[in-house]
Amino acid sequence: MELHELSMGEAIELLEKGEISSVDLTKSLLERIQATEPLIHAYLKVDRDQALSQAEKADEMRAKGRGTRLTGIPCGIKDVLCTEGITTTCGSRILENFVPPFDATLVGNLKKAGAVILGKQNMDEFAMGSSCENSAFGPTRNPWDLNAIPGGSSGGSAASVSACSSFFSIGTDTGGSIRQPASHCGVVGLKPTYGRVSRFGLVAYASSLDQAGPLARTVADAADVLQVIAGHDPQDSTSAPKEAPDYQSALLKGVKSLKLGVPKEYFVEGTDPEVEEAVKNAISHLESLGAELVPVSLPHTEYALPTYYIVAPAEASSNLARYDGVRYGLSVRDPEDDLKDMYKKTRTTGFGPEVLRRIMLGTYALSAGYYDAYYGKACQVRTLIKQDFEKCFKEVDAIVCPVAPTPAFDIGQKVDDPMQMYLSDIFTLAVNMAGLPGLSLPCGVSAGNRPIGLQIMAPHFAEETLLTVGHAFESTTDHHQKRPSLKAA
Ligand code: GLN
Repeated sequence: MELHELSMGEAIELLEKGEISSVDLTKSLLERIQATEPLIHAYLKVDRDQALSQAEKADEMRAKGRGTRLTGIPCGIKDVLCTEGITTTCGSRILENFVPPFDATLVGNLKKAGAVILGKQNMDEFAMGSSCENSAFGPTRNPWDLNAIPGGSSGGSAASVSACSSFFSIGTDTGGSIRQPASHCGVVGLKPTYGRVSRFGLVAYASSLDQAGPLARTVADAADVLQVIAGHDPQDSTSAPKEAPDYQSALLKGVKSLKLGVPKEYFVEGTDPEVEEAVKNAISHLESLGAELVPVSLPHTEYALPTYYIVAPAEASSNLARYDGVRYGLSVRDPEDDLKDMYKKTRTTGFGPEVLRRIMLGTYALSAGYYDAYYGKACQVRTLIKQDFEKCFKEVDAIVCPVAPTPAFDIGQKVDDPMQMYLSDIFTLAVNMAGLPGLSLPCGVSAGNRPIGLQIMAPHFAEETLLTVGHAFESTTDHHQKRPSLKAA
């Protein structure tokens, strides 16, 4: 067995015993990246020298007895999180050469814990998309089937964990971007509660929804990563002043006393029959482990999609106003141009079509005369969605349902049809609208060899419940052990 094939838990054990070094592990992962990148294109930038020097430091940390569980473990970071001295492009031409002068807080926390950062991972431009096809630097491919999308927007992060070219990755989830690609690539993705993980240094898409979290090969691995990145950050005014509990101890609690809600609105026509079957089997399995299943209703679910596609573009149109050619990234101007010409040329050259579409949608929704009808109304509906969950969580501890209505679709299949693309987010958006935590974990593979995910949702700051349910499922099934064979198409 090669080192990159170890589970993260096994790698930690060998590092702790001193049987392998982080430098060995990092070299093995760098080789794996070289072998898999021509097929999947999960990384936008690999920093070999920095990774190896961090690995050396990690080995020293362990030798001095100052190691944490993540010390020496190689990982990847979605290219929307600032990394000091390494380009942070957000998958966009407009930031192609942007090198941040600081680390995002969570990147700094990972470094302090001794994790080794291999590089930056591909994504839909500014995290807008569900297939990773909106990257200005070419799509990522799904390691299970190179003709399939890996999901998005954290497509590079999910594909890399699945292809074993990183032990874990950090993605972000504004409307499903951790959970949906995790589901399509057969890995675990955890979207923490809004405010649980610092957003300082996360380039903003929709600030009231964005949240960063781990993608990993097992629920236990995700717990280890969450432990390091969760917690209050005075530099992010939206981060919650709450200490993170011990997530590893949540893993072993078992589901015996838990009530799991099964929402009827998530089992509707239009869902692929293979997805429905795999998810229903997974839910029955949880029942056989002792959980009590309770039919529940989230009546405003159907409004999550239209509401999200008002709120997120509105916030994006405001956040993306800063890319005007003056301070950040690309600047396009001819000698005779005035300021307005420069803004226009920079933005039309620098942004791709989906980003431009959302800026226009969002600007319209916020404009005088339309604000109340669109943005104001969407905020009201958002409250109703949140109240559905509050009511539901009075009865149950967690909710179980599909992550996405279909397994991964083909590259090119939906890219010219934004409505179809938006519909692939139908089961993930409500969690973000309500600020809740959500977990996606593998629960099957379709006849066409494309993975299927189970989604678990929990009340605010109840990540422990997600980990309990997820680990109970995982430790009694083998879906998470299946890996793609990754052969050239
Ligand atoms: N697919 C959704 C969108 O395009 C969600 C993206 C995300 O979570 N960043 O907006």
